Amino acid sequence: MSVRKGLLAALALSLSLSAPASVPAAAAFQEGVAPDDAYTVWLCPMHRDHQAHGEGRCPLCGMALVRRTLVTRYVCLAQEDGLVEDEPGICPDTGDPLVPATREVIWFCPSDPDRVFVEPGMCEGDIPREMTTQVSAHGDHNPRHGGILFMAPDGVHHLEGALEDGAFRLYFYDSYTRPIEPDPFGARVVPADDRGAPLGDPVALATAPGALEMPAEAAAGERAAFTAFVQFPGRDREDRFDFIFLSDAEKTAFAAETAPAALPELRVPDTPQAILNAIRARDRRVQALIDQGRWADLFIPALEAKELALAYGESASDRPWVALKRIVRGAWLLDLYGDQGDRVRVGEAYEIFAEGMRGLPERARE
Ligand SMILES: [Zn+2]
Ligand SMILES: [Zn+2]
Repeated sequence: MSVRKGLLAALALSLSLSAPASVPAAAAFQEGVAPDDAYTVWLCPMHRDHQAHGEGRCPLCGMALVRRTLVTRYVCLAQEDGLVEDEPGICPDTGDPLVPATREVIWFCPSDPDRVFVEPGMCEGDIPREMTTQVSAHGDHNPRHGGILFMAPDGVHHLEGALEDGAFRLYFYDSYTRPIEPDPFGARVVPADDRGAPLGDPVALATAPGALEMPAEAAAGERAAFTAFVQFPGRDREDRFDFIFLSDAEKTAFAAETAPAALPELRVPDTPQAILNAIRARDRRVQALIDQGRWADLFIPALEAKELALAYGESASDRPWVALKRIVRGAWLLDLYGDQGDRVRVGEAYEIFAEGMRGLPERARE
């Protein structure tokens, strides 16, 4: 989904195609083609969070996007034992529930297992490549504690806010979504209202086993919002995260429309006017998601609006390039800051997007 600046070196180190030595490959090997539940995405090789609808270039680094096959599997929280299951279950080492994880499907030849392929094919001696899955950096943004997971602007860490046992807790993860101890991090947190206005002064979180926490009186099943200001090592200022926990009623109402792991296929309408209408529909959707505080779902209508804007530029005769460029830029900033959960930056990104929308004509010129 999204991408960030200034960390290309760190990302490049951790984003080689092979799994790092400390993350064993899946135990179960299969022959042949991809599993039934696999799906295809287009990603930047450097910034895996950035997805797209098809071929193109990464808005951050300009690299050509690559096609990858992903799948959801279930792993132990720390992923130490390399256990990868097709279904939910219990981690034998800890007795804790397995957690869902997005993994990349890869193929290899038994004679040279270090060399991995992104497609099935044949090995020497006419034997088919074997299939396995691996974890990739920034390939997995599933929360581990039923909370909300964001990507840190440092491009290296992830963090999850969760309401548990009368406390607001912050959990920290590395780029492979493996838990890390909270010691290197500091955080101040304040409950907020629906518009993100703080209800009081931020409180420094205390260290708890595996997390930072503070008592929180959020009523069960009710909507609750917390703003966190987190100090990451090496950052010169705190980063902001807006955690909005939906009420049970909202969760039920939105269940069918929560963002899938991959971008759904997009059908571009035939006429410029229909494309224009489709862009406006995405704008309304973006606004609704911002109103609801559903930052992580923003990338879908935003990136659809981006594709549709490009299609409008191709098909209409008026070609309002300045407006279309603003929509494209605003869309990928919405994607980026949506993943980071910073409502102030989401708002700024939407301003760019909205300015582009205002520059579109009322009626399309065929
Ligand atoms: Zn990139
Ligand atoms: Zn990430």
